[in-house]
Amino acid sequence: MDESEKERWIKAGRIGKEVREYAVSIVKPGMALLDLARNIESKFAQLGSKLAFPPNLSINDTAAHYSPGFDDQIILKEGDMLKIDIGASVDGCLSDTAATVVVGEDPSPLVNASREALENVIKIMKPGMSIDEIGETIERTIRGAGFSPIVNLGGHGISLYNVHEGEFIPNVNQQNGKKLRMEGVVAVEPFSTTGNGYVIDSSSGEIFMFQSDRNVRDKTAREILEFIKSEYKTLPFSRRWVVEKYGRVANYALDVLTGNKALYRFPVLKEESGGNVSQFEHTFLFDRGEVTVTTL
Ligand code: MN
Ligand code: MN
Repeated sequence: MDESEKERWIKAGRIGKEVREYAVSIVKPGMALLDLARNIESKFAQLGSKLAFPPNLSINDTAAHYSPGFDDQIILKEGDMLKIDIGASVDGCLSDTAATVVVGEDPSPLVNASREALENVIKIMKPGMSIDEIGETIERTIRGAGFSPIVNLGGHGISLYNVHEGEFIPNVNQQNGKKLRMEGVVAVEPFSTTGNGYVIDSSSGEIFMFQSDRNVRDKTAREILEFIKSEYKTLPFSRRWVVEKYGRVANYALDVLTGNKALYRFPVLKEESGGNVSQFEHTFLFDRGEVTVTTL
C-alpha cells in the first residue's frame, strides 16, 4: 500500500473514532433517534469526510442495519441498549466502528462482554492469523461472562469503496482453518446477546446499495440511479439522503430500482429469540507486517 493511500485509511479511522466518541457523548433519554443520526452526519462533514454507510442506530433486540428514515418516530428511553455503528469514507478508504451504550445508565455486563471480547482480539491480532483463533477468543470471552455470541454476524474484510469484501470473521470458532489477509484492512465486531445468538431478517430497512446496472424506463428513477452511482458508488446509502435531495418522488424511484434489482435493500436484523444485543467494532490495517487499529 502506498503512503498516500495508507494516510487516507488512517484518516478515515481517526474520523470514525472521533464521531463514535462524539455520538456516545450526546446520547441521552428523550433524544430522537433521527436527531442523533443527523448530528452524526453533520459531524462527519465537519471533520472533512463522507460516510462509509448510513449511521446504524439499532436498539435492544435489533442487532444491526436500523437507520432512521425521514419520518422516524423513535425516542431514546432510559435503559435502551443502543448500538452506534458508523464509518468514514475518505475517497473510498473506509472505517467501520461501533460502540454500545445503555441510554442514561452505566454499561451493563452484556455491554462489557462484547467490549472485552474486542479488547482481547486487539491483544492477539496479527496479519495472516487464524480466523478460528479470533472466533475462539470472542466466543470464550462472551460465554465466560455468561452470554452468547451471535453466530451469523461478524467481522469482514474491507477494500476501496467496499465495506464488505473477502473474509468473514465469525464470533465463534467455526474450525474451518481459514486465515486473515496479510495486507489490507479488516473489521472485527463481537456481538454478545442474552438470547440464542442468531439474527434473522425483519422489516425492510432504510439502507440501500447499488447492485447492478439495469435498463430503467422511468426517467426520474434513471436519473436517481445515475446520482446514486456517482455519489455513493458501491457504498450503502440512506433513503433519507436521496429523499432530501429529490423530494418524496425518490420513494417511488427507490421502490422501482429495488424491484428490478438495480439496488439492494438491507433488511433490519433482529435477534431471533428477542435477546438484548451489544456490539463493539474496530477497523484494523495491516501493512508490511504491522497492525494499526485505525479506530482506537
Ligand atoms: Mn459496522
Ligand atoms: Mn462491520
